[in-house]
Amino acid sequence: MKKVLESACFAAKKHTNQRRKNAGNTPYINHPLEVAHLLATVGGVTDEDILSAALLHDTIEDTETLPGEISARFGDVVLSYVLEVSDDKMLPKAERKRFQVEHAPFLSNGAKLIKLGDRIANMRSIVHEPPAGWPPLRQAEYFKWSQMVFQGLRNTNEALENLFEEEFVQGYQVVLAREKDPDYTNN
Ligand code: ZN
Repeated sequence: MKKVLESACFAAKKHTNQRRKNAGNTPYINHPLEVAHLLATVGGVTDEDILSAALLHDTIEDTETLPGEISARFGDVVLSYVLEVSDDKMLPKAERKRFQVEHAPFLSNGAKLIKLGDRIANMRSIVHEPPAGWPPLRQAEYFKWSQMVFQGLRNTNEALENLFEEEFVQGYQVVLAREKDPDYTNN
């Protein structure tokens, strides 16, 4: 409990000046909070290292956080989950996407849970508060890519997988309808 709350505070400080890319410029911390909340409430996850890592999952990739800071405060297990779900930003974007698809089946159980929550939260964001400037085609591509990553995350957590599939089916329809709607704008 204490560790999970400390992770939330740590992530809030690290993301303090960041906003999501949506029209409302939502505080970034809303995203890791949603991921950890999905794991706990839908997935029934109680492992504190996994919940902490869910809260910290974007700190290394998207802030100045160093791996040593995470291991010193939260331990090596939490750090290993965070590293597993962090992209190597040295790689070009297309390669990072392919890497995620290919490596999903080999992630640890904890990292798979975090990935499931992350994908669900991101698909929801695209439907309800899409990143500004993303045309429907790019939104649809995110859904298709998520579906490919998802194939490697199966047999991890039934409730989260069911929710992923629900959100995918509903969300993809919304995005396809936007593609066909000449009046749809999202600047
Ligand atoms: Zn994320």
